[in-house]
Amino acid sequence: MSDFTVSVYQTYVSCAPGRRTWLYISSINRTTGKAGVTDPNSIYTNYRPRTINLTQLHSSGRTRSGKERRSGYRFLSQPSDTAVHLCRHCFHYKKPEELHQEPGVIHSDICVPCKAEVAELMKQICQNRALMLED
Ligand SMILES: [Zn+2]
Repeated sequence: MSDFTVSVYQTYVSCAPGRRTWLYISSINRTTGKAGVTDPNSIYTNYRPRTINLTQLHSSGRTRSGKERRSGYRFLSQPSDTAVHLCRHCFHYKKPEELHQEPGVIHSDICVPCKAEVAELMKQICQNRALMLED
Protein backbone atom coordinates (compact mmCIF):
# COMPACT_ATOMS: atom_id res chain seq x y z
CA MET A 1 0.00 0.00 0.00
CA SER A 2 2.71 2.47 -0.96
CA ASP A 3 0.16 4.68 -2.73
CA PHE A 4 -1.83 5.07 0.48
CA THR A 5 -3.26 8.53 1.10
CA VAL A 6 -5.15 9.78 4.08
CA SER A 7 -8.47 11.22 2.92
CA VAL A 8 -11.71 12.44 4.43
CA TYR A 9 -14.39 9.91 5.47
CA GLN A 10 -11.79 7.22 6.16
CA THR A 11 -12.03 5.34 9.45
CA TYR A 12 -9.10 4.24 11.64
CA VAL A 13 -8.58 2.21 14.79
CA SER A 14 -5.89 2.69 17.43
CA CYS A 15 -2.78 0.47 17.32
CA ALA A 16 -2.26 0.70 21.09
CA PRO A 17 -2.62 -2.77 22.64
CA GLY A 18 -5.78 -3.29 24.65
CA ARG A 19 -7.26 0.06 23.78
CA ARG A 20 -9.83 0.45 21.04
CA THR A 21 -10.36 3.97 19.83
CA TRP A 22 -11.84 4.68 16.44
CA LEU A 23 -11.38 7.76 14.31
CA TYR A 24 -13.31 9.26 11.47
CA ILE A 25 -11.42 11.75 9.29
CA SER A 26 -13.52 14.87 8.86
CA SER A 27 -10.93 17.25 7.38
CA ILE A 28 -7.31 17.35 6.25
CA ASN A 29 -4.87 20.23 6.21
CA ARG A 30 -1.77 19.19 4.21
CA THR A 31 -0.08 22.52 4.98
CA THR A 32 -0.15 22.01 8.74
CA GLY A 33 0.07 18.22 8.42
CA LYS A 34 -2.97 17.73 10.59
CA ALA A 35 -6.28 15.92 10.23
CA GLY A 36 -9.55 16.84 11.89
CA VAL A 37 -10.97 13.71 13.51
CA THR A 38 -14.08 12.64 15.37
CA ASP A 39 -15.37 9.40 16.82
CA PRO A 40 -17.25 7.60 13.98
CA ASN A 41 -19.90 6.85 16.60
CA SER A 42 -20.15 10.47 17.72
CA ILE A 43 -23.86 10.67 16.93
CA TYR A 44 -24.21 8.38 19.95
CA THR A 45 -21.42 9.75 22.15
CA ASN A 46 -20.19 13.15 23.24
CA TYR A 47 -16.77 12.79 21.67
CA ARG A 48 -15.31 16.20 20.86
CA PRO A 49 -13.70 16.79 17.45
CA ARG A 50 -9.93 17.25 17.63
CA THR A 51 -6.90 17.32 15.35
CA ILE A 52 -4.05 14.83 15.12
CA ASN A 53 -0.85 14.72 13.10
CA LEU A 54 -1.10 12.95 9.75
CA THR A 55 2.03 11.01 10.75
CA GLN A 56 -0.13 9.22 13.37
CA LEU A 57 -2.28 7.67 10.62
CA HIS A 58 -0.90 4.48 9.07
CA SER A 59 -1.99 2.28 6.16
CA SER A 60 -1.53 -0.87 8.25
CA GLY A 61 -0.92 -2.08 11.79
CA ARG A 62 2.58 -3.16 10.86
CA THR A 63 5.70 -1.14 10.12
CA ARG A 64 7.68 -1.55 6.90
CA SER A 65 9.97 -3.98 8.72
CA GLY A 66 6.95 -6.07 9.77
CA LYS A 67 6.86 -5.06 13.41
CA GLU A 68 3.49 -4.56 15.03
CA ARG A 69 2.68 -0.91 15.67
CA ARG A 70 1.91 0.05 19.27
CA SER A 71 0.98 3.66 18.71
CA GLY A 72 -0.96 5.73 16.22
CA TYR A 73 -3.93 4.56 14.21
CA ARG A 74 -4.27 2.06 11.40
CA PHE A 75 -6.53 2.38 8.38
CA LEU A 76 -9.84 0.54 8.59
CA SER A 77 -12.18 1.54 5.79
CA GLN A 78 -13.16 4.17 3.26
CA PRO A 79 -16.31 4.62 1.22
CA SER A 80 -16.38 3.36 -2.36
CA ASP A 81 -18.88 3.95 -5.21
CA THR A 82 -21.06 1.12 -3.88
CA ALA A 83 -20.19 0.89 -0.19
CA VAL A 84 -21.26 4.11 1.49
CA HIS A 85 -22.99 2.92 4.66
CA LEU A 86 -20.82 2.99 7.76
CA CYS A 87 -21.53 0.09 10.10
CA ARG A 88 -21.69 1.63 13.58
CA HIS A 89 -20.23 -1.50 15.14
CA CYS A 90 -17.12 -2.31 13.07
CA PHE A 91 -16.81 1.09 11.32
CA HIS A 92 -16.35 -0.44 7.88
CA TYR A 93 -18.21 0.98 4.89
CA LYS A 94 -20.78 -1.50 3.58
CA LYS A 95 -23.01 -2.00 0.56
CA PRO A 96 -26.77 -1.79 1.23
CA GLU A 97 -27.13 -5.58 0.80
CA GLU A 98 -24.42 -6.15 3.44
CA LEU A 99 -26.48 -4.42 6.10
CA HIS A 100 -28.68 -6.28 8.53
CA GLN A 101 -32.30 -6.20 7.39
CA GLU A 102 -35.18 -6.31 9.80
CA PRO A 103 -38.86 -6.25 8.94
CA GLY A 104 -40.27 -2.78 9.52
CA VAL A 105 -36.85 -1.14 9.76
CA ILE A 106 -36.17 1.02 6.72
CA HIS A 107 -32.53 1.82 7.35
CA SER A 108 -30.18 -0.37 9.33
CA ASP A 109 -26.77 0.91 10.42
CA ILE A 110 -25.24 -2.42 11.43
CA CYS A 111 -23.79 -5.03 9.06
CA VAL A 112 -24.83 -8.70 8.95
CA PRO A 113 -21.69 -10.17 10.65
CA CYS A 114 -21.80 -7.51 13.39
CA LYS A 115 -25.50 -8.14 14.05
CA ALA A 116 -24.77 -11.87 14.43
CA GLU A 117 -21.87 -11.11 16.78
CA VAL A 118 -24.01 -8.79 18.93
CA ALA A 119 -26.85 -11.36 19.02
CA GLU A 120 -24.40 -14.08 20.14
CA LEU A 121 -22.98 -11.78 22.85
CA MET A 122 -26.48 -10.98 24.12
CA LYS A 123 -27.30 -14.69 24.21
CA GLN A 124 -24.20 -15.40 26.32
CA ILE A 125 -25.00 -12.54 28.70
CA CYS A 126 -28.56 -13.86 29.14
CA GLN A 127 -27.30 -17.41 29.72
CA ASN A 128 -24.75 -16.23 32.30
CA ARG A 129 -27.44 -14.26 34.07
CA ALA A 130 -29.75 -17.30 34.10
CA LEU A 131 -26.92 -19.42 35.56
CA MET A 132 -26.30 -16.81 38.25
CA LEU A 133 -29.99 -16.83 39.20
CA GLU A 134 -29.95 -20.65 39.48
CA ASP A 135 -27.17 -20.58 42.11
ZN1 LIG B 1 -20.11 -4.18 11.01
